[in-house]
Amino acid sequence: MKILVINCGSSSLKFQLLDMNDESLVASGLVERIGLDGSRLVLKTSDGQKHTTEVPLPDHTAALKLTLDSLVKPEHRILGSLDEIGAVGHRIVHGGESYSSSVVIDEEVMAAIEEAADLAPLHNPPNILGVRAIQSVLPNVKNVAVFDTAFHQTMEPAAYIYALPYEYYEKYRVRRYGFHGTSHKFVFETAADFLGVPKESLRAITCHLGNGSSVTAIENGKSVDTTMGFTPLEGLPMGTRSGNFDPAIYSYIMQKENLTSEEMDKVLNKESGVLGVSGYSSDFRDLSEKANEGDKRSALALSLFHRSVKKVIGSFTALMGGVDCIIFTGGIGENSIEDRAEICKGLEFFGAKLDPEKNATRGKLAEISADDSKVKILVVPTNEELAIARDTLRLVNA
Ligand code: ADP
Repeated sequence: MKILVINCGSSSLKFQLLDMNDESLVASGLVERIGLDGSRLVLKTSDGQKHTTEVPLPDHTAALKLTLDSLVKPEHRILGSLDEIGAVGHRIVHGGESYSSSVVIDEEVMAAIEEAADLAPLHNPPNILGVRAIQSVLPNVKNVAVFDTAFHQTMEPAAYIYALPYEYYEKYRVRRYGFHGTSHKFVFETAADFLGVPKESLRAITCHLGNGSSVTAIENGKSVDTTMGFTPLEGLPMGTRSGNFDPAIYSYIMQKENLTSEEMDKVLNKESGVLGVSGYSSDFRDLSEKANEGDKRSALALSLFHRSVKKVIGSFTALMGGVDCIIFTGGIGENSIEDRAEICKGLEFFGAKLDPEKNATRGKLAEISADDSKVKILVVPTNEELAIARDTLRLVNA
């Protein structure tokens, strides 16, 4: 069966078409600037050819129609007809407290996703548009929702309740939800397979380090704690997001700089993180280059990131009473030899010892710990689309 995986943003639509007979990628692409000037589709076929179409696309339905037309265009040699698409998997950011696993979408599920839109106002509305667009263009195909929050629904209250008046949880559902769940689960399961150990007996810390970064503690195959919270702003400093800081700073800076709450939210989401500290870039490659040229603030941004990841690894190890495996994934985790080395420096005291030679690897599934390291350290490339396609296949076959 071929499965289409869709990830809709406010003005973008990313997709992958996978053949689940061998889990191979048939085609992928991106529609950009939906509803804006200069909208375009870039389609990539499995032989690496790129086809760009620039046409006005007023909404997500138009973007999806163009995507599907391009998949069946005879010269692209991707699909003979749209009937070959067996099901569609959707990345849905927020499932609220309703979903702890993926689910076939019906109107009840749509209502729950709409209800959770209050909690993820930037993400769930475009995700909903993606589902609606498929429903109108491919009315006979089943849709599956795969939630970013679902994997973390196993956390216990002590992990997800904030030390705020309890009625904020009851009235407004203010709690830790956690994100990147599809990725944390995928790399954890891949690691367990790779190590040949049952998931239930592997205590793991998964470090998803990219533009957005989060770390999760996994015990008995379940997420027991994670750094992102009510929103993806909490936890580690990221490309442009602040991560944790003293909450008193929020109102202090609003007063000093005469900012509205919207402006302050923008500062914390778009102008903070390693970009804010370095004043230079949100991209770790740029920062590393600049730091090597002697730029102190770029070096500072990187060291505070390393320190934060290290502190979380330490605290999650304490929480689980030990750790068997530390997993690196995401653009930085998969590719940055230097960042992994800095994060792991000093973890030898609890038996996590990196092998510098094995660590000299990028973008591949690999064990990078020393032979005498008690804790396995792995690089596991994430593949959220494949994880979504697997869940979709399982649910439509059920
Ligand atoms: P997103 O969260 O948007 O999916 P990615 O997971 O693609 O982001 O991660 C992007 C980050 O990964 C960028 O900061 C980029 O600099 C970093 N990155 C990608 N390749 C490398 C590399 N070879 N070395 C260091 N950092 C890298």
